[in-house]
Amino acid sequence: MIAPDWGDIYKALGAQPVINATGSVTLLGGSTPAPEVKEAMARADGAYIPLMELQEKAGRFIADMVDVPAAYITSGAGSALTLATAAIMAGDDDDKIEQLPDTTGMKNEILIQRRQRYMQHYWYDRCLELAGAKLVDFGTDERTTREDLEKAIGPNTAAVHYYAMEQSPDADALSLEDTIEIAHANGLPVTVDSAGQIFPLGNLGKYVRMGADFQCIAAKYMGAPQSVGLALGSEDMIYKLGLQSFASYEGRRVRGVGRPHKIDRQEMIGAVAAVRRWMTMNHEDRLVDSDIRTQTIVSSLRGIDGLRVEPIDNIIGHQPFGLNLHVDESVTGMTAHDVVDQLKQGDPPIWTRVKDWEDFITIHVFGLNEGEEKIVGQRIADLFKR
Ligand SMILES: *Cc1c(COP(=O)(O)O)cnc(C)c1O
Repeated sequence: MIAPDWGDIYKALGAQPVINATGSVTLLGGSTPAPEVKEAMARADGAYIPLMELQEKAGRFIADMVDVPAAYITSGAGSALTLATAAIMAGDDDDKIEQLPDTTGMKNEILIQRRQRYMQHYWYDRCLELAGAKLVDFGTDERTTREDLEKAIGPNTAAVHYYAMEQSPDADALSLEDTIEIAHANGLPVTVDSAGQIFPLGNLGKYVRMGADFQCIAAKYMGAPQSVGLALGSEDMIYKLGLQSFASYEGRRVRGVGRPHKIDRQEMIGAVAAVRRWMTMNHEDRLVDSDIRTQTIVSSLRGIDGLRVEPIDNIIGHQPFGLNLHVDESVTGMTAHDVVDQLKQGDPPIWTRVKDWEDFITIHVFGLNEGEEKIVGQRIADLFKR
């Protein structure tokens, strides 16, 4: 069922391609740009363009599309986090822009809820530090209160960071509403990591419309190359963020920390095309397709002793549907980790995953080529029928 030329561009190098049943993960390549995105990128080849101007015009287009005051295309959402943090610390002061990541003389502490950072296994906090900032936790593992934030604000506080997870709301975290209210009452900006909050469409840009100064989006989740992301925010915030970018480094001759975060003009055009596609496509069709492909895997796994298949009904965010597999070791002789390992050792390897803090396997259809869901279902079933 696998095409004979599947992955041969990788095999020619001696590298082993894999079937990606994990979803959109950076480790495996993140995304496959949609055909109209690839076509737009190819058309961008035909001419050169001053990149500061392209950034401005592309940002305007994206901001209008998602209904926020301003937008900027970055080298992934991770870069947007770094540039936003740098922009908050240095503002539009060229000397400070050139001084970072040395933050001497600047407010450099970013507050982050301990609960969001550790209990929600937030992985991208490092992107904030790369600008030179220091992360300061507030609240406890159990909960975060308004007082926790109020008490944590000090003379060196530069901003408050928030991690948006609409698909698994955390009632014990401090809400974004409270975060914005308290931060703004203290003259502090709020940054939001909302990299995956791209559906329902109303969630895209929502945090900025709620009053946050900045939010990021990972374009890998919406049919763009995984090397691009979006910074959305207030005019002021996005203007200052742009001063940190590689385009400004070259275009203004002011050396900001964003110089290594380079992106192609083709990728910028790809981001524009991906946003246009995402905002105008039929999401009902997209969801039905994910649901059907998930059901294909589920139906291959019915009636296996010791294997409990739990379909996921979430459609919020970037990875609709999918399934969790609970493996009973006492019946099957295998742990979830064994199953993941054996799938990786097969031909071709199939990548699924167990998160370190969980004991079930999660499978998503996002990264599967057409028909690969059948292979995934069959290969898992075969492991148990041996
Ligand atoms: C993927 C992701 C990022 C990083 O985005 P990139 O575009 O890969 O840099 C940041 N935060 C969250 C929550 C993500 O899911």
